[in-house]
Amino acid sequence: MKQHDYGSSSRKINKSPQKDSSKKLAAILLIIIFYVLFCLIYRDKISDLLGELIDNPEDKIKNIFVSAPDTTLTIDVDGRKYRVEAAGGDSSGSIPIIKAGKNAIIRIITKEQPEAINTELYLNDVRVLSTSNTVIQANDLRGDGEYKGVCEITCGKTGTSVYPFTIAADFPATVSVSASETDPGELVVICVENLNHDEKLEVETDLDFTPNIYKYGNKNIIMLPVSYYNEPDRVYQIKLIMGDEEYSYALRVNDKEFITQYMTIDANVAASTRNEKSAEEIKEKIHPLRPLSDPEPWWQDKFILPVEGGRVSETDFGKKRHVNNSPTSYRHNGLDIGHDKGTPVMASNNGRVLLADFLIETGNTVIIEHGFGLKTWYYHMDELRVETGDWVKKGDIIGTVGSTGFSTGPHLHFAASVNSVYINPLTLINEGVPLLLLE
Ligand SMILES: [Zn+2]
Repeated sequence: MKQHDYGSSSRKINKSPQKDSSKKLAAILLIIIFYVLFCLIYRDKISDLLGELIDNPEDKIKNIFVSAPDTTLTIDVDGRKYRVEAAGGDSSGSIPIIKAGKNAIIRIITKEQPEAINTELYLNDVRVLSTSNTVIQANDLRGDGEYKGVCEITCGKTGTSVYPFTIAADFPATVSVSASETDPGELVVICVENLNHDEKLEVETDLDFTPNIYKYGNKNIIMLPVSYYNEPDRVYQIKLIMGDEEYSYALRVNDKEFITQYMTIDANVAASTRNEKSAEEIKEKIHPLRPLSDPEPWWQDKFILPVEGGRVSETDFGKKRHVNNSPTSYRHNGLDIGHDKGTPVMASNNGRVLLADFLIETGNTVIIEHGFGLKTWYYHMDELRVETGDWVKKGDIIGTVGSTGFSTGPHLHFAASVNSVYINPLTLINEGVPLLLLE
């Protein structure tokens, strides 16, 4: 039985080569089928791998052999490219200065798609921008200046890296002119923003006034009073010179009718208040104050009428006045505000008292400098309540209505000027200083 068994087993063995070869064939076929299926399913990934090897052999090799992070970032400004090194590590630590003009588009380019990216910009240690966008418009910046930038990038392979850089924003200057047309006796304000620190601003005009230029934050302010002595119905020129650039503006001065007044005043009062001595006093005490100007604006918002409930005539300012039938006239440089003797007189706005004194012609007189050469004048007061050098707030009582000096009865003569040129005080009260309605 055993032999038979062996015999039968040997028969089995004898038959096996035929069966084995068919099994191998099936296995090979199965492998081929699996391989074809695998290739069909993963063909995209395979072609990517092959493509990468063919297109970017260096990158591929780097990814395989270099374990250090890819430590550079590119910042592109309108096609100009800046290389930014990651902070720390072996980098030299030099921080590139990236120049950007007003309409520049700043792009942050990473070699690989980052998992997270955030860029922050600081001006004078104040954060002005934080964005996950890779495109920054220079328009979003706050004018000229050196912006400290930092870009934080997180990548799966390399972790988080920080890239410091500086953007030197240098925008072309922008000019605002408060009016292209005005009445004589009104104030025109010019504001120049984003002027370079090394660029000098100059102004030339045929308006017969040499304006000062005042700094106010990022702005340069030019106060340009148009005198009632300027020729009406004429176009004047304003030329701004900035570095090697020139800008010209036309300013039309309208034909405004100023009334003529014939006034009588007691001959004795006239003789005792307008004479050589009074003229000498004005020359000595008032003239030196005219060109003074504080480099900061003290005023706030609009000016106020200095006498509450006072009677005002809109034609008062700039009228031609003949006194006691004199053939010659002079211009009345302010408003005559009528009210009872002793009524409080208030400061029309905040400022510094340039003068509080009794003068022969103008009686008890106060002059306030509100900054940038803008002044208000108060004449003929009964009493003075401030002293030269005092600081006053809008609405503070500076004196009382009276009739001192060259005056026909109780009233306040109230005038406004930019240095020596008188302007319409009603415009300061109704509208404020153009472009500079300061809060
Ligand atoms: Zn007057």
